[in-house]
Amino acid sequence: MNNSDKNQIWDLFTSDKKSFCVISHTNPDGDAMGSALAMKLLLKKLGHEAEVLVPNIYPDYYAWLKDADKIIIGDEQRDKAVDCIEEADILLFMDLNKVRRVEGLDEFLLASDAPKILFDHHVGPDEVFKLQFARTDVSSTCELVYEFISEFDKSLLDKDIADCLYTGIVTDTGNYFHGNITAGTFRITADLIDLGIDVLEINQKVYNTFSESRIRMLGHSLINRMEVLHDKETVVMYLTKDDLKKFNDQEGDTEGIVNYGLTIKGIKISALFIERAQYIKISFRSEGDVNVNQIAVNYYDGGGHKNASGAYFYGSIEDAILRFKQALNEIEL
Ligand code: 5GP
Ligand code: MN
Repeated sequence: MNNSDKNQIWDLFTSDKKSFCVISHTNPDGDAMGSALAMKLLLKKLGHEAEVLVPNIYPDYYAWLKDADKIIIGDEQRDKAVDCIEEADILLFMDLNKVRRVEGLDEFLLASDAPKILFDHHVGPDEVFKLQFARTDVSSTCELVYEFISEFDKSLLDKDIADCLYTGIVTDTGNYFHGNITAGTFRITADLIDLGIDVLEINQKVYNTFSESRIRMLGHSLINRMEVLHDKETVVMYLTKDDLKKFNDQEGDTEGIVNYGLTIKGIKISALFIERAQYIKISFRSEGDVNVNQIAVNYYDGGGHKNASGAYFYGSIEDAILRFKQALNEIEL
């Protein structure tokens, strides 16, 4: 197995009709949604049966994407989710590097004999994938999907697929602001515009549809829940269960808060700790050569990318933050 089995994947896509279960990660973001839906739309065009499956509900600012309303939500439609996995000829994983990131369904996925195929841009994928098109030098999984389709049959691209791919690219790069942005990222975006997407309309739908309580929770995070560790060039933010309740937190509302830490001059690392019902959800962001993935991997068994990674911590929010401060003291970043 190498990182690019794309010819074999294309052969599989263009041989006899199959049934695909297209899976992405817990707390689906724009790249998870965009890449999985784009792939489903492609597979349908190629004459296959395909369903998208995610472990839990996506933020409603992605609900307008084509076929988002048909996505199977694992924790709400468990039987349907298990059927999708067990009846699939092929399990296609999008935008994740570890099967365990498909929470609540990973045991069914690992038990299935169906070949597992991966499209991804995270560091260090699991060994379980039979075929993969995985690279870390791209902005997003959507960029890889674009590359894949355009290399083999560009005529299959259409506006619905382009909407999905742009959404993944614009969100995974934080509006073309961070991550692996290359000339290719912009060329692809230009091609997507040529396919008829309305960039301003999508930006409006994804970014300018905050509820009042969401923007107030952001304000609360910055004023009352942010500590600046100047000597470590680091910002630590947190939100408690009570905070989330007070601001009527909805899926996706905490997305993007962590990035504000990096907007302070001289700050290289930003970390956000969120007290969820079962665990503490942690997000790390960093600038330039500073590698926060090593903190996520070595201190919390998480993962992601050099400049954007995350993890779960099973314990108190105080202990989660304490561990982070220890990490800052122990490692050379
Ligand atoms: P976020 O902070 O937005 O949840 O995640 C940042 C990046 O790290 C994303 O690319 C995400 O896929 C990855 N990531 C987040 N949490 C985890 C985790 O628990 N395990 C792994 N392997 N990756 C994660
Ligand atoms: Mn991604």
